[in-house]
Amino acid sequence: MGTYFHSVTLDEEKCRGCTNCIKRCPTEAIRVRKSKARIINERCIDCGECIRVCPYHAKKAITDSFDMVNTFKYKVVIPAPSLYGQFKSVFSRNHILTALKMLGFDEVYEVAQAAEIVSKATKKFINKEGQKFPLISSACPAVVRLIQVRFPNLIDNILKFESPMEVAAKIARDKVMKKENLTKDEIGVFFITPCAAKMTSVKAPYERESSSVSGVISIKDVYLGVLNNLMRQKSCEDLIGAGYEGIRWANSGGESLALGTDSFLAVDGIHEVITILEEVENDRLEDVMFIEALACKGGCLGGPLTIENSYVAKTRLKKHIDEAKEKAIASSDHDDENDNIDWTGKVQYKPVLKLDDDIEKAIKKMEILQNIENELPGLDCGACGAPSCRALAEDIVRGNANETDCLFKLRDRVRELAIQMMELEAIMPPVMDKGSGGKGEK
Ligand code: SF4
Ligand code: SF4
Repeated sequence: MGTYFHSVTLDEEKCRGCTNCIKRCPTEAIRVRKSKARIINERCIDCGECIRVCPYHAKKAITDSFDMVNTFKYKVVIPAPSLYGQFKSVFSRNHILTALKMLGFDEVYEVAQAAEIVSKATKKFINKEGQKFPLISSACPAVVRLIQVRFPNLIDNILKFESPMEVAAKIARDKVMKKENLTKDEIGVFFITPCAAKMTSVKAPYERESSSVSGVISIKDVYLGVLNNLMRQKSCEDLIGAGYEGIRWANSGGESLALGTDSFLAVDGIHEVITILEEVENDRLEDVMFIEALACKGGCLGGPLTIENSYVAKTRLKKHIDEAKEKAIASSDHDDENDNIDWTGKVQYKPVLKLDDDIEKAIKKMEILQNIENELPGLDCGACGAPSCRALAEDIVRGNANETDCLFKLRDRVRELAIQMMELEAIMPPVMDKGSGGKGEK
């Protein structure tokens, strides 16, 4: 289902081959060869970790250009709730939404509003008899892809509901079609994203045939335009529709808090997520009903395509949450027709880490890998361009690297060659003097 795509790419000119990124990648998708990083595409889950750690800004996320907005007759913008945390607290949510709309959109629909629909459906679902616990939230596409690549046994634990972004896009499009009497293709629905993984889930969805989102624009790309509009704004429209429970989704723990149970675990940061998923795999968390796992530290507020420091953004978002509480903007009323948010597709195991499709060959290769690894120094220094000695051994087995890519092995090899040369020199016949006519010295 869907074509292959991933959003995070390398700007080769900026890369200095420093190897900072290779150890942070949760799927060992990066190698440095010939002083340049390379991403093994099928392994990348778009977690954005390498964008964060690259000191030279050589990693970037591909998102849609704003020009795409103007190719549609009617334009709708659906901002992620993390957008609200990017601007100073003096600006209300209505100010921010109006400033966003002023960039050239006809309509705004908050993704936070759709988040409340997902919360409502999840609440119902976890209370049904016979569930397999813990259920793992599907809100973060990077985590779903991580499960596909590294934790196939946990695919059944994923909560198979559409993300708030998809639900928002569908509702917004349907409403405009009815209200404006337009066809589906005349309406462009644009998601304002804090992360790269959302772009991938739109371009190459795993949970349905195609996405209801027409384009994905990063928060970074709209930030200045929104800020300019905020500065010159005289008044604002009443555009808010979401309650505090929906806005809270931008924070780690926000999705869980809306479920009305204490039996949840909220984890953020891709490496911490891996630790928790390992626990689930080892049946140590069966007493937990719901796991909210987000790839970015601090949740979506910590996304690599945001502007503001996530701690600052969290404080700012709190003000919007408190305001929504004060004004008693509770969970919005939702039409029954929006209650069906089940995935229509299936998440499948992506065996990109497998050594061979043939099980016998795979076992043989694993033995060879083990032997090569045993011969490597085990320092995981990264100087070879692979994240660990085991990863280099795997690359060698796959035919993508040589043993002498390891500096220690290269040094040993050079030493061996030097000894061999000395031995050869010792048994070499003496060099004849040109003028001696082959008679040797007197
Ligand atoms: S985005 Fe994440 S998975 Fe992809 S290469 Fe970077 S660190 Fe690895
Ligand atoms: S962190 Fe990775 S992408 Fe950035 S310069 Fe270093 S090797 Fe290149």
